[in-house]
Amino acid sequence: MRAQMMDFPLTVTSIMRHARKVHGRATVASVTLDSARVESPAQEYTWGDAFRRVDQLGNALQRLGVELGERIATLAWNDHRHVELYFGIACLGAVCHTINPRLFPEQVAYIINHAEDQWLFVDPLIVPLVEKLQPTLPSVKGYVLLCDRANMPETGLPNALCYEELLAPEPEAFDWPELDENSAAGLCYTSGTTGDPKGVLYSHRSTVLHTMMIALPDVMGVSSRSVLMPLVPMFHVNAWGAVHVAAMTGANLVLPGPKMLDGEVISALINRYQVDYSLGVPTIWLALVEYLQSSGETVPSLQQVVVGGAACPESLKQALEGYGVSVHPGWGMTETSPLGAYYVPPVGLAEMSAEQQAQYRTKAGRAVFGVEMKIEDPQGNELPWDGDSAGELKVRGPWVAGDYYKLHGTDDHFDNGWFATGDVATIDSDGYMAITDRVKDVIKSGGEWISSIDVENAAMGHPAVAEAAVIGIPDPKWTERPLLVVVLRPDAEAGAGSSAESILESLQGKIADWWVPEHCVFVDQLPHTATGKVSKKTLREQMSGYALEKQ
Ligand code: AMP
Repeated sequence: MRAQMMDFPLTVTSIMRHARKVHGRATVASVTLDSARVESPAQEYTWGDAFRRVDQLGNALQRLGVELGERIATLAWNDHRHVELYFGIACLGAVCHTINPRLFPEQVAYIINHAEDQWLFVDPLIVPLVEKLQPTLPSVKGYVLLCDRANMPETGLPNALCYEELLAPEPEAFDWPELDENSAAGLCYTSGTTGDPKGVLYSHRSTVLHTMMIALPDVMGVSSRSVLMPLVPMFHVNAWGAVHVAAMTGANLVLPGPKMLDGEVISALINRYQVDYSLGVPTIWLALVEYLQSSGETVPSLQQVVVGGAACPESLKQALEGYGVSVHPGWGMTETSPLGAYYVPPVGLAEMSAEQQAQYRTKAGRAVFGVEMKIEDPQGNELPWDGDSAGELKVRGPWVAGDYYKLHGTDDHFDNGWFATGDVATIDSDGYMAITDRVKDVIKSGGEWISSIDVENAAMGHPAVAEAAVIGIPDPKWTERPLLVVVLRPDAEAGAGSSAESILESLQGKIADWWVPEHCVFVDQLPHTATGKVSKKTLREQMSGYALEKQ
């Protein structure tokens, strides 16, 4: 028997409608280029003001000719204009494509061309990158710079418009279309594995369901009393849902603009706006802790942080706890919107043995409702949840990707209704999951991927290099940094031309600057597997002493 409840679409528009009616007085404070100094007031307005401007944006996008399903890209930091674009683009029925400006320029161009983006909304700080790429972007009709007239940079970009001038003449009302909840709302590319970046296309429905879930008390516990500051970039999986959840619950939102890694600005923002909840990768928290330790500042309002994107080092947890902050690891991926698991301590933790308590501190959290998990051995056998058996983590659920954009089921991560994450995990009998390894060997530095293969290929271009392998080594600041391990050609002449410095220098310009390893070590030979590939696992074991020495 069919039920008789309304078939009511779960859309980002429904979040906007709710927020403007119910949470119109909650505030959004944001650092932009126009107000980049923290001593001067950040840009401040209410969610009500924000949505009036989103109405203007809807009119403006329509005037630009944006149509249903078109991809409209943002290259922007965390600020109020980016929030407006999240809602304006998606609620118009177009797709808000957030792009990571830190990727290597060729990757940014590949992503824009693959998505066939029609318009680019660009932060003035990112204009130099876009100017370089512009001749290679045939699908782009024009560029909108996210600033007012006074802050418009000199630019050779054709059809460069000023965002504030684009909005100014438009009415503060817009007739938003009724959208299918399964239509695309957002697009984010992941460059986590080798090969070309892959697009994850979020739906309105997946966005709403993910937002509802992360607000729950045993997840982020966001409410109208919360003051939320996402320090994870808005180009990285919708800032882990922070913007949508603030609008849905009426939390105040604080946005640091391009200043996420500036401990002084972050600490000042926390204290000025009484931020109680924040989100970021370990590198961000290290920057804040370093600033607090050197300045003697404190952040008494900050109650909780979620640390995700990489494992949170114990020393960092302790440092944050020392400032009265409770630390919640979270696990997720671009493909999982991103939240898959969230750590809250088990009931009765305080009564457990010291050893048990220490074990819980290594966990990445428990699956949230809506994300089902299993672990499998390489033969595809499901492994028990005994806290010990480690296997590849597979997930499924309404906010987990079912395919990559334009790949039409050809990617082998999608396996009979499950998504194979490439992470190796254990899960205990209470559902606490711990990430123990990665199936692939990419390196994660400061929350962003470094492809070991690309660095190796670049190193192999040096005339003295016979063979090169790159592995991640622990780094207290960036979580991991690449280490280049090289076998020299037998005929390589000893001297400056074949020195570690010369090899590292030769990588400049071939790969992104921050991908260039700090260290290069020489070995007589690399360990190989039976099929002749370098065994990264063995190499990591061999180099573990080196990693420890570095620390
Ligand atoms: P991304 O798609 O860039 O967000 O990267 C997702 C990957 O980050 C996952 O597949 C994991 O390898 C890693 N990751 C995310 N959260 C954690 C965590 N809590 N512990 C360890 N690794 C994590």
